[in-house]
Amino acid sequence: MSGRLPVVLPPVAGELFSSWIGRHAAFYGVPSLTMLRHCLPEAVSLHIADQTLSKGESSRLAEMFSTDAKTVRQMTFANVQRSAHRFISKEPIQRCSGCESGTSDPEPILRSQLLGWRITCPHCGRPFRDLAQCDRGHSFDQYHAAALRGEMLLHDDAERDIQTWTSPLELAGLLLMRRVPWPFPRDAELWRYRVLGVVIPDLDDVIARDGSFPPSPKHPIVPLHSRPALLAGVAIVERAGPEMLQAHTFGHNRNRFIEKTDHLINPAFGLPGPRQMQLI
Ligand SMILES: [Zn+2]
Repeated sequence: MSGRLPVVLPPVAGELFSSWIGRHAAFYGVPSLTMLRHCLPEAVSLHIADQTLSKGESSRLAEMFSTDAKTVRQMTFANVQRSAHRFISKEPIQRCSGCESGTSDPEPILRSQLLGWRITCPHCGRPFRDLAQCDRGHSFDQYHAAALRGEMLLHDDAERDIQTWTSPLELAGLLLMRRVPWPFPRDAELWRYRVLGVVIPDLDDVIARDGSFPPSPKHPIVPLHSRPALLAGVAIVERAGPEMLQAHTFGHNRNRFIEKTDHLINPAFGLPGPRQMQLI
């Protein structure tokens, strides 16, 4: 590995690691991966570096870029909870009009632009705009306060390892599990219905209108215009306590749901196991 780079571009506040490397690559006129491998010859991809940059790798990069290892590592998702990684997109999915400089080419990508649990910019607090779709206007306005609380709960869990009686991240996954609605819908498109629709009744209609495959525990990144529903759902169930999870029928997914919630409910409150509970 060669020594320090002659010219170093300072990262902008909240910039994503791969964006910072990409801007150096543009400056030096090389592909981004070449730039990264110049510093870390064993690197596989920028995406993997964003996810898993180690402390040792951060130190090596810091030396070449004349900065400190903490600054480098903070640009990545390496410190984010493992269970939060599925909520992080591979590409930017949102933008903040207040934080775009518009003067840089390429424009820096901020770390927060990939986070599937955010609806507001962590730097200035403005609501995010959707990058993928034209603005449909924000749905679920009536849940705005709860959604902001849910955003904070998920942020604390993902970025600070702070949980309440449950892991809000895990709760978000549970709310995206399928449910069997009652009364039985006429459209019979049962695969569209989610547990979250019990907490946020407007959700079923929005998902049906969207026509796309709804998010799931495995693919939990909800489009920005519907994301307040998920965040509010997390906040509402978190406040109501684990009993709320027991109050519904989940049809063929019931056993899976019970399995998943068993440890959430019992250690926290010493309640009888869900297998003995009366599920409606
Ligand atoms: Zn902003």
